[in-house]
Amino acid sequence: MTRQRAPLTCFVGPMNSSKTRRLLDHLSECRDALNYSIRVYKPALDDRFDIKEVRCRNGGCWEAIPVPSSTKSKVDSLFIFNDIYKIPLKKRPQLVAIDEIQFFDKNIKDVVTCLLNDNIEVVVSGLNRSFKGEPFSSIESLLGLATKIETLTARCTYKDGRGKTCGAPATMTQRLIDGKPAPYKSPVVVIQKFDDSKITYEARCADHWFCPGTPLSRLKKRPKK
Ligand SMILES: [Zn+2]
Repeated sequence: MTRQRAPLTCFVGPMNSSKTRRLLDHLSECRDALNYSIRVYKPALDDRFDIKEVRCRNGGCWEAIPVPSSTKSKVDSLFIFNDIYKIPLKKRPQLVAIDEIQFFDKNIKDVVTCLLNDNIEVVVSGLNRSFKGEPFSSIESLLGLATKIETLTARCTYKDGRGKTCGAPATMTQRLIDGKPAPYKSPVVVIQKFDDSKITYEARCADHWFCPGTPLSRLKKRPKK
């Protein structure tokens, strides 16, 4: 029986939770065990490492196609669609991987749906939440399509007054500006540069994640009867 629709796997978590390593492991498995042809994409705006590679912090890398931006802060999902469908049918990849999926624009859901319907497996990795603690719409829209979702955690790097590191499972990404928590009003997409000491990111547990100015719930409390 032929497969009706290819699977979608999502690796999500805060910063330093080995999302990209899990993505690269998945690619290696599919190449080595299944001999899949694979095509990897990443946002061109993420230039912390070599622009034509997806690389994880503790070694391992894979050649990747950088995807340009459609707006100042979003990456052009249709670039992937056009890039895949210009390839003759018989030469198209069996698996498409997309790193840093949180940066892609709202067309990503339609693009991924098209690939899955054409029996092209898709694997994505990305941040579960912004530094504001809010989900990225691109990832949210894909989770509903996923065959498998792996939620990863890091270790909280918060240090108390005595310099002791918390170490609890971290689910949040803390943005710091000159070592202080970034306010809610600052823009969502700011890439950390090695030569930029002003803005840094850390993995934090919920107790040690701070975002000053976060609005309270807009839901009104029900009046007591
Ligand atoms: Zn903590």
